[in-house]
Amino acid sequence: MTVLVLALDALDEGLIDHFDIDAFRLESSGSLETYAHTKPVPYTPEVWATVATGLGPEEHGISAAGTSEWDNPALEFASRFTGRLSEGTRGTLGKFVRTRTGERERIGETDRESMFDADDAVVHNWPGVHDGRPLQYAWDLMNAVSEGMGRSEFERDLFGQSAEQFGWAREMLHHPVSVAGVHVHALDAAGHAYADDEAAFRRAYERIGGFVDEVVDALGPDDELLLLSDHGMRTAFYPPDAGEDPASHSWRAYASATAESRPNSVYDVRAWVESRAATDTSTGADVDEAIEMPTDRLRELGYIE
Ligand SMILES: [Zn+2]
Repeated sequence: MTVLVLALDALDEGLIDHFDIDAFRLESSGSLETYAHTKPVPYTPEVWATVATGLGPEEHGISAAGTSEWDNPALEFASRFTGRLSEGTRGTLGKFVRTRTGERERIGETDRESMFDADDAVVHNWPGVHDGRPLQYAWDLMNAVSEGMGRSEFERDLFGQSAEQFGWAREMLHHPVSVAGVHVHALDAAGHAYADDEAAFRRAYERIGGFVDEVVDALGPDDELLLLSDHGMRTAFYPPDAGEDPASHSWRAYASATAESRPNSVYDVRAWVESRAATDTSTGADVDEAIEMPTDRLRELGYIE
């Protein structure tokens, strides 16, 4: 039995209804209370570190300061207006940011305990907790869009990355895993690129919804799936966002679970997940069986010392 947690960055409760995508509506679903700390709206690494640890940013230590190049005001400005800038201006802003920031900083990882430290728990990538490289790759794609990358290449790379992450999630359902988590940045990146292109953003929601359907089909009778977001995305075409900056983060974070309940706040997710995982008695914490591997052949091949 596995509690599978899909961190779908920027999945927006209002846009799920606007696009009418059933895939995101599991047994229990609705808004998830989130927070802002170093910025006026929720900031990705801060919130995901809270989801995994149950702690606020003062305690888990992951905040916008020094965690990424994305806190550079010039790039943040560019990200909001990318869709409306001329090609030449996009390139100039992108290069300006690269030149100004120089060596990129890595996304920090908290040293506090998280829901992925439990026995038999696994995590693929999760901002602020484990392996920030996939998030940085998605940020690189947004930067490349600001420098003129075309739609086909952007979507091929972005959804190719998503397919790897959802494929990993499905595979974990075949193993004795108590909690499995993966962060998918596709809807945030697509939102920054397509905040004023309703048809393109709808296709991105439908594509990610298709990945979710595949995961739901792969669930065993005792498995639980939890979908979460850290914030939503304001767009030019969603009526409640009139007067707001398109491609800025909205407060419409979302949670959806195959269970009869769901977490109500980003601070409650860890306890919710751990209580579900703790009710499982099937996996047990037995010592893993050793593998008798003939190492001579590997030495001959130079694979091991
Ligand atoms: Zn985010």
